[in-house]
Amino acid sequence: MRLSRGARGRGISWGRGAALFGLCPRCGAKTLFAGVAQFADTCRVCALDYRQFNVGDGPAAFLTLIIGALVTGLAIWLQLAVEPPFWVHVILWVPLTAALVVGGLRASKAWLLIAEYRRAAGEGRIKDTPPE
Ligand SMILES: [Zn+2]
Repeated sequence: MRLSRGARGRGISWGRGAALFGLCPRCGAKTLFAGVAQFADTCRVCALDYRQFNVGDGPAAFLTLIIGALVTGLAIWLQLAVEPPFWVHVILWVPLTAALVVGGLRASKAWLLIAEYRRAAGEGRIKDTPPE
């Protein structure tokens, strides 16, 4: 089995896309997520066991607070600037908030798992021998 493009040494290089697109920290395949913001059990390509990483829902509360403050600020600005009818606020902010929370949660969880993978691999706590 060949590693995907960008694989070199231990894990792949981590540009900005890795966490955003849910790439496996070992082989770089797009296999990290099974659901919207739920990790798969293992990588389908290199069989890295994602269950050994304990990311949890730590970023969720922090992220929700930041997004809530951001959206509230934007809604107040819009109201003061153009005074739109109430339904404009509903149509605009409800989907935007949901998308930002889900997208942000996905990216932050992936980022944490990738960081944990790199640290654990560096300490030798996980078996990190990519398949042939
Ligand atoms: Zn993989």
